[in-house]
Amino acid sequence: MKRGLWIVPVVLCLSLPPAVRAADTVRMERMNWPDIKKAIASGCTTAVVGVGSIEQHGPHLPTMTDARISDALAELVARKLGRALQARTIETGLSDHHLAFAGTISLTPETLRLILRDYTASLVRHGFKRILFIPMHGGNFETVRRFAAEARKAHPGIDVTAFLDLPGLTAFLSGLSAEYGVSKTEAGDHAGENETSMMMALESGLVASERFAPGYCGPFGEAEMRLLLEKGMPAISSDGVLGDPRKASPEKGRIYLERLADFIVASVGGTSGRR
Ligand SMILES: [Zn+2]
Repeated sequence: MKRGLWIVPVVLCLSLPPAVRAADTVRMERMNWPDIKKAIASGCTTAVVGVGSIEQHGPHLPTMTDARISDALAELVARKLGRALQARTIETGLSDHHLAFAGTISLTPETLRLILRDYTASLVRHGFKRILFIPMHGGNFETVRRFAAEARKAHPGIDVTAFLDLPGLTAFLSGLSAEYGVSKTEAGDHAGENETSMMMALESGLVASERFAPGYCGPFGEAEMRLLLEKGMPAISSDGVLGDPRKASPEKGRIYLERLADFIVASVGGTSGRR
């Protein structure tokens, strides 16, 4: 009887069209469990997880912008690190300050913490030794930072880590845009040239270029950040844009994503870095 059970799946397997297999993917949601198990057993013991947001990104970008960018970066980082797989991106984050705009979905810090906790427990159970979270939305960084510290205590011997250099990220992105003659305020902190370029590279069909218009392009320091968090985005920008998307291009977006992934890999360390 046992022998019979073994034969049937083999036959079924051979009869499946090869197109349903995605042999070169690092995305676990596109792989089956035997292949994931084999990959982990052969040394792919790092799991990379993007942490995004579903929030307004001006009149020209979709609400999934941060989710999509963190997803793309997590895949690039997993590939660049090597011996790593990507777990399904956590798409929704902390976005209370964007709730004045339709479509924004916001979690409480506790909800996000519990999602991170449950992701980590699942990944540890499968044998991952290093779990690397990559938040790509400013509002998530503090919750991810606190969680990573808590999780390292809860899972001794497991390197629960995260890319946490938000000031470095902001400076790196505006530096990239500056190479193309785009000012820091145009590159923007939200839906400006920088994010718009990356979304043109990833989801050109969802970018409404006919609506490109400058948003808030004044100084954005601690006072503005406090105002944003306390009163919400409309207190600073009525259309939800910090920056100016008009110089965005998909060519630049592809370069930004590649170089940003390199920056993240260097920042977290190739094998056991911890920030
Ligand atoms: Zn964003």
